[in-house]
Amino acid sequence: SERHDILIVGGGSAGIAVAASLLRRDAGLSITIIEPRDTHYYQPGWTMVGGGIFERSQTHRPMARVMPKGVQWIRERVARFAPEKDEVILEDGTRLAYGVLVVAAGIKLDWEQIDGLPGTLGKNGVTSNYTFETAPYSWELIESLKEGGALFTQPPMPIKCAGAPQKIMYMACDYWQDNKRLGGIDVAFHTSTPALFGVSAYVPALQSYVDRYGIDLHLESRLIAVDGESKRATFAEGDGEVTRDFAMLHVTPPQVAPDFIADSPLAADSGFIAVDQETLRHPHYGNVFALGDVCSAPNAKTAAAVRKQAPVAAWNILAMLNGADRHASYDGYGSCPLTVERGRIVLAEFGYGGALQPTFPNWLIDPTRPSRLAWHLKVSALPWIYWNGMLRGHEWLARPDIEPGAMEEPAALEAASP
Ligand code: FAD
Repeated sequence: SERHDILIVGGGSAGIAVAASLLRRDAGLSITIIEPRDTHYYQPGWTMVGGGIFERSQTHRPMARVMPKGVQWIRERVARFAPEKDEVILEDGTRLAYGVLVVAAGIKLDWEQIDGLPGTLGKNGVTSNYTFETAPYSWELIESLKEGGALFTQPPMPIKCAGAPQKIMYMACDYWQDNKRLGGIDVAFHTSTPALFGVSAYVPALQSYVDRYGIDLHLESRLIAVDGESKRATFAEGDGEVTRDFAMLHVTPPQVAPDFIADSPLAADSGFIAVDQETLRHPHYGNVFALGDVCSAPNAKTAAAVRKQAPVAAWNILAMLNGADRHASYDGYGSCPLTVERGRIVLAEFGYGGALQPTFPNWLIDPTRPSRLAWHLKVSALPWIYWNGMLRGHEWLARPDIEPGAMEEPAALEAASP
């Protein structure tokens, strides 16, 4: 079988960012990315598409354009892993051998778990910002809704961007309030979680918006079935079930590790790729790394997390290849810009154990309160940082913590830094 020095599975946020990060450090590396799609998506933009702020065209670019120069792109799908032989097997049966494997295949949206949902998504008032196809339908529904029930749902954790299920709800309420319609619309949030947000520091600000908009909050309430034709949604609550009518339903789908990941020898019990949560290295197969939504580390699954993980993984891969025994470590950083109204965001930034990790000083952005500056950051700065920084291996605000005495930064990186 063909041999690849560094083989990356997935060309999403994590796969492209880690490839770019590696090449910044050593332009001579031979890197291959396996990615079946011809389009790369900026998923954090989908919340803004659903909220009527962005056009969908702002959230995608041709895959060929984001592939770092010098990377070999194999447009195929991985089917299986054989880590004891250092091989991956593609869907067409081709076996590829590797020196280092990096798994960055994302998370699976598991629509099938909800009875009746796959057949009605994208019509009958049923929408989701979680797909490129349906995000514009969210805005169509929000803009046209005059009265009736508007239901927003959140499945059990883990999900990517845990704030996204409620971001769209607040933006919708703000729009309805501005247009004097909120009084006629019954808004409810059904979340499977026991609290409004996993990190308690952000709950008071969010709760104040729930109160302001008059949202009917149902904690530990899980969507189990949708009847699109009759516009009814059924939820499991406590020991029983409740069915509610809706005019619009925004669904955040249950999310699990992709099947070929969960079924592989690399998976942890959770189904995600087992990694040491600081080094992002597999605990058993030392030449295997994983980052992004597919890895088992207990951080908030976000592109913001990937921004910090990519340089850590890159560093540790190079340390391994160079025989260095010191490593860079990832502190669990993730971020969720919570759009509480059009023009204001609560900028949640936190690491392992819910430790707050604000990027900005408190006087500039108070992380627990709605901020106008944070809104501009989300609308203008973050997409630019994504396309031009993170996907190109620039590590603005994301240089990794390296253990004291770790190997010197390779000269190639210093020369290339802005
Ligand atoms: P992805 O970017 O999803 O990429 C996975 C890639 O793997 C895909 O390109 C896929 O084609 C490929 N792949 C899958 N299977 C195979 C296979 N068998 N073989 C080869 N390749 C395969 N993050 C934030 O930081 N801030 C936000 O505000 C935010 N908001 C969000 C809002 C929404 C609605 C959504 C959906 C996400 C949001 N996120 C946000 C989360 C963010 O988009 C993800 O955490 C991030 O994209 C994870 O990157 P990834 O590379 O792990 O996965």
